Amino acid sequence: FDQRDGEIWFNGEFVAWKDAKIHVLTHGLHYASSVFEGERAYGGEVFKLREHTERLIESGRILGFKVPYSADEIDAATNELLRRQGFADAYVRPVAWRGSEMMGVSAQNNRINVAIAIWQWPSYFDPEQKMKGIRLDLAEYRRPDPKTAPSKSKAAGLYMICTISKHAAEAKGYADALMLDWRGYVAEATGANVFFVKDGVIHTPKADCFLDGITRRTVIDLAKRRGLTVIEREIMPEELSGFSECFLTGTAAEVTPVAEIADWRFTPGEISKRLVEDYAAEVTPKRAAAE
Ligand code: PMP
Repeated sequence: FDQRDGEIWFNGEFVAWKDAKIHVLTHGLHYASSVFEGERAYGGEVFKLREHTERLIESGRILGFKVPYSADEIDAATNELLRRQGFADAYVRPVAWRGSEMMGVSAQNNRINVAIAIWQWPSYFDPEQKMKGIRLDLAEYRRPDPKTAPSKSKAAGLYMICTISKHAAEAKGYADALMLDWRGYVAEATGANVFFVKDGVIHTPKADCFLDGITRRTVIDLAKRRGLTVIEREIMPEELSGFSECFLTGTAAEVTPVAEIADWRFTPGEISKRLVEDYAAEVTPKRAAAE
């Protein structure tokens, strides 16, 4: 992945992709003092760019550091990089981390570095394909208590249990894993939020110990615009047998129907389909939609 052509925005400059390097004694690598974002461009526009940029800055603040660029500067750098890379549909990965000036748990004066990389990622909008639904396992690890970890930060360290859980699920032939939270309630997948449908009503866990996804909030709005009821509440795993549909939401996942979670079965249906389509329409730049 590091041998591509193109450019990466790195601390205020555009550098060749292959040359965007850091030292092995980077604090972010040893102590996970790193935060990131996942964004997606559709038709040459990053969907909800400002919200993602603000979340990046807020994630850093929660970890105790100040991202040394304003939201305007980061947005401008993202748009300029997207233009220079020449992609219409792409994934955008900003990251901010403590540098290598000091080694130790404390690194008060280490430089805060920021980089943005963008790679091509065609949008996947074939509703027929999506409606087959993916298979999830149940993860062993649980989302931590917010008193144990900074759950509201999109911090690299919180992804340790996500990668372990996703690898374990993949080794068993599943696409992903559903994680419970520290209390045993349903939380989310390893990189996406989860929704369920029962009797035409949408149920989703309260985002009180995991990321309240930008896609999650978008989909809740889209559902309400359709006149659907969305209930945010604590969901016990035993309840899963009572839901007819299930889908994941996330920048990468968009709206992805789920057919199985361990021994529970779902039938991707009308509500999932409608939201897959509504989300596709929502992310399409109005300019492109008019063409
Ligand atoms: N939860 C986790 C753990 C994630 O990594 C993501 C993807 N950023 C989400 C939820 C969904 O967030 P968003 O809709 O903002 O992409």
